[in-house]
Amino acid sequence: VKASETFARELIDDIVRRGLGTGARLPTEAALVHDYGCSRQSVREGLRLLEVSGLVTMHRGVGGGPRLGRVDPGNLGRMATLFLHLAGATHDELFDALITAEALLAERSARNPDRAAVEAAMGPHLQHPDRAELSKADFIVEHTEFHATVAALAGNRVLSIFLQSITQIFTHHVLRTSDPRAGFASIENDHRLVAEAVLAGDPTGAREAMAAHEQRLIEGFRRSKDGDSAEFISWI
Ligand SMILES: [Zn+2]
Repeated sequence: VKASETFARELIDDIVRRGLGTGARLPTEAALVHDYGCSRQSVREGLRLLEVSGLVTMHRGVGGGPRLGRVDPGNLGRMATLFLHLAGATHDELFDALITAEALLAERSARNPDRAAVEAAMGPHLQHPDRAELSKADFIVEHTEFHATVAALAGNRVLSIFLQSITQIFTHHVLRTSDPRAGFASIENDHRLVAEAVLAGDPTGAREAMAAHEQRLIEGFRRSKDGDSAEFISWI
């Protein structure tokens, strides 16, 4: 293993042990060189590795330096697009994977034995919020949050992170090229149906409601001008 990778692993290990949260200030590059006993180049390479993954953010100026980022499956998904592109994976394969992944997460969420946690997470999605139309950016944030919430209820961080990375490739990568709001008026209703089934502890209902929701999103994308489903998945 390269020294930079060993450094990155040890830094993450220390962060986890110290229980640091997103935005926490990390030691400066010089301090890291001292603390971890590796070269400046290894520290830089290691930080760069973590920065590409969004696990560390670099800040300039006074009070600058590295800070702890967050575990964002979107960054994992973004990285994965390089693998998927080189493997020749197409949008059609992404759609298929998306339905499989989201349906599994919804099914597991419905089985979650912590019903209080399920109610707290799904309750807010039972009603249509009364508000003006969302901007595209806000729409993407809200949509992503709902799916992250369902994924968190699935009760397995490995599945949640990996499967949400597929969802995020779709949301950020594919939907970015078309307007997700156009023709997707039923999205909040779809989310409500998923939330109801998860709340009712109905795994089959949750799986089917989620699959139907993803299918509608995919059909919306296919109808849009950029919806060439044979196109390769690529880094954006
Ligand atoms: Zn959704």
